Amino acid sequence: MTTGCGCGCDGGETLIFTCAGAAHSGQAANRAGVQAMQQGIGNLFCIAAVAADIADKMTRVRKAGKRIAIDGCSDHCCRKVLEKAGLTADVHVVATDLGIEKKPAQPDMAGDANKIVDKIKALMGAAC
Ligand code: SF4
Repeated sequence: MTTGCGCGCDGGETLIFTCAGAAHSGQAANRAGVQAMQQGIGNLFCIAAVAADIADKMTRVRKAGKRIAIDGCSDHCCRKVLEKAGLTADVHVVATDLGIEKKPAQPDMAGDANKIVDKIKALMGAAC
């Protein structure tokens, strides 16, 4: 039986996945995932291990109290990998939805990663 709000604040682990795409927005998504982990929001986890269906990794992913997916663009690769594994993203943030360009003329990695982390925090607060 599920207890609490299910967001991970009741003890379940929060896992953070990023698409880690090659474009600037995908790399900003990955940077944001690292920053979110450093700020104590959750633990960064390998989306490639989910795609590869690595058994011991999947056990931890299925047990997670909350899963955060960060995508670089509207292709939503990270969210789709979770869904193909029968899992949902409780929080989903897409870099390009925040005005972050895939190929900006003047990339601002730090600023764009901060924008993504701020959005995650806002959605996490709304979910509790
Ligand atoms: S979501 Fe976009 S940026 Fe991320 S891996 Fe997929 S195509 Fe690349």
